[in-house]
Amino acid sequence: MPDQSSPAIAILTIGNELLDGRVRDTNASTLADLLRARGFVIESIATVNDDARAIKDALSFLFSRTTCVLVSGGLGPTSDDLTRDAVAEFFGVPLQRDPNVAAHLERFFAARKRTMNATNLRQADFPLGAEVLPNAQGTAPGFTLCRASHNQRIFCLPGVPHELLHMCTAEVLPLLSKYFQSLTPQVTGMLKIFGRTESDVAAAIERIVLPERLHVGYRASFPEVHLTFVSPCGDSESVHAALNEARAAIGSEYVFTEDPEESIEALLVKQLKATGHTLTCAESCTGGMIAGRITSVAGASEVFHGSIVSYQNQVKVDQLGVSASILDRHGAVSAECAEAMARGALDKFLATYALAVTGIAGPSGGSVEKPVGTFYVALATNDSCQAFRYFFMGSRGRIRTYAATTALDVIRRALAGHPLRNGTPS
Ligand code: ATP
Ligand code: MG
Repeated sequence: MPDQSSPAIAILTIGNELLDGRVRDTNASTLADLLRARGFVIESIATVNDDARAIKDALSFLFSRTTCVLVSGGLGPTSDDLTRDAVAEFFGVPLQRDPNVAAHLERFFAARKRTMNATNLRQADFPLGAEVLPNAQGTAPGFTLCRASHNQRIFCLPGVPHELLHMCTAEVLPLLSKYFQSLTPQVTGMLKIFGRTESDVAAAIERIVLPERLHVGYRASFPEVHLTFVSPCGDSESVHAALNEARAAIGSEYVFTEDPEESIEALLVKQLKATGHTLTCAESCTGGMIAGRITSVAGASEVFHGSIVSYQNQVKVDQLGVSASILDRHGAVSAECAEAMARGALDKFLATYALAVTGIAGPSGGSVEKPVGTFYVALATNDSCQAFRYFFMGSRGRIRTYAATTALDVIRRALAGHPLRNGTPS
């Protein structure tokens, strides 16, 4: 039986590296995200140093306001990993070695032919009464402990982000549902947009009437904009309706996915597979970024042939057959050069589509006619080849990222039957 309904939950992240800026605290947001999606309310988030006194003070503050605290970090074997000791002291219980965990650690080290130090065995020590939470991805198990007198509960998880994510999903969430009754999970819908600015999107959304009690969120996740609708009372129909209205108001060709986990490159690989097309690239100013992003998608080899990084003019000539006269007359940053690069890549790799990018990422090399941030994307098939001109103002890194995303978006649009225009996306 659930012992408490809808607890407010607090998150405590522990680590000197979080407070001195060496490591960005992503664990707090990971936990908050997972919990919020299941209807739990996050009451506070606190961060303290690897310091027993600070950990106990934080627990005392957080437990004065909440029923349940989720702790991240400090479960490792080193002397700065103090979470288990501090929690045991706070709960007023001794540490006790768990023989099963100790045996598991011994097997773990033996299998890797590594010597286990006595300090490693610290990871088998838990506050008396704790339930061990197995860590399938690392050596430090977590634990949960109930403070019966106060009807409160703590969960301690390792700090390594992928271990924490896995353990929260596999261990903590099922136990939270067992011990506590969560609220109606809120429903969230998302549109991932490329080619419109955050203010364009906001202006479009202001023109539509949204159902009451629906929260709208805008997030610039460069170079994309992510728009979310959240219904705290779990009304999926109104979220669905808002997504459709928003899509129409923004321009549906700018929305590349509704799946929060899907990147533009993952979508592109899916599109290529679905339409039976293959792709190759010729990259100048993006230097392989497009190929890097496409090949980060598992299964890309089915549809992606390869890319030539033709950074110097001579490579454009030798590897892609760009004629010297195009380079002389129009320059390497020109529609003509981009088209010739795309045609050259198509011939060389025998794909059904070729994408080429050439531009000026700066900070030097710009002119009045072609300022820094000017780039061309060409898309070639066996029967057509067209280049589009774009301009983006920003640092070298941002220009290159923007150019790579624009190129991915050009073929994404082509495959979806959306219009391609100069300067779009803006
Ligand atoms: P380990 O067995 O690896 O020592 P641990 O539970 O002791 O696990 P920490 O030592 O606190 O965890 O952190 C391990 C690594 O995880 C740190 O080096 C840090 O890079 C990362 N990390 C810790 N806490 C966070 C956090 N809140 N957000 C993001 N990364 C974190
Ligand atoms: Mg550690």
